[in-house]
Amino acid sequence: MLSKPRPNYLAGYSPSLVAQVNQAIQQGTFGALLKSRYPLAHKVRTDGALYEFVSALKNQHLRNTQSLSRIEFDSKLQTLRNALGTHTTISRVQGGKLKAKRELRVASLFKEMPEAFLRMIVVHELAHLKEREHNKAFYQLCRHMEPEYAQLEFELRAYLTYLDAGGVPLWSATEGINPPVI
Ligand SMILES: [Zn+2]
Repeated sequence: MLSKPRPNYLAGYSPSLVAQVNQAIQQGTFGALLKSRYPLAHKVRTDGALYEFVSALKNQHLRNTQSLSRIEFDSKLQTLRNALGTHTTISRVQGGKLKAKRELRVASLFKEMPEAFLRMIVVHELAHLKEREHNKAFYQLCRHMEPEYAQLEFELRAYLTYLDAGGVPLWSATEGINPPVI
């Protein structure tokens, strides 16, 4: 049986940068480093909360783009396919007219992450409402919505590399909900 090739989340980054990440993962310092930058998980845990989160960003930056008919977390989105979020346009006939409905889905994995990472993936998918391809205009729009976009995407990819290497998740969805046991 052929084993699936491991995803390379850091393809496209400079070899020295990738080496630094891999070294920190191997030495066991990566987790503490990233956790010190982002101590807490966000509190966007339900589809309703995600809807609010996405709508706020969309209203702020992309008010004039088509509205989204569905916004939700999707547990079927696998990071192995490198699809962390999706934006789809579904054409449906409504009242004799063909209407395009747009949906935005975010991998459930993002429930257990800091807000900055959730914002990064949402900004990415929102930018696709205007730019289909990952071109210059696309990344410009991402940076317009989140000035730290490039850094966040790199850190997210480094985190996925860490998880893929067997690292323990750094944030949990129940964090901050239960009172600490003393
Ligand atoms: Zn994309």
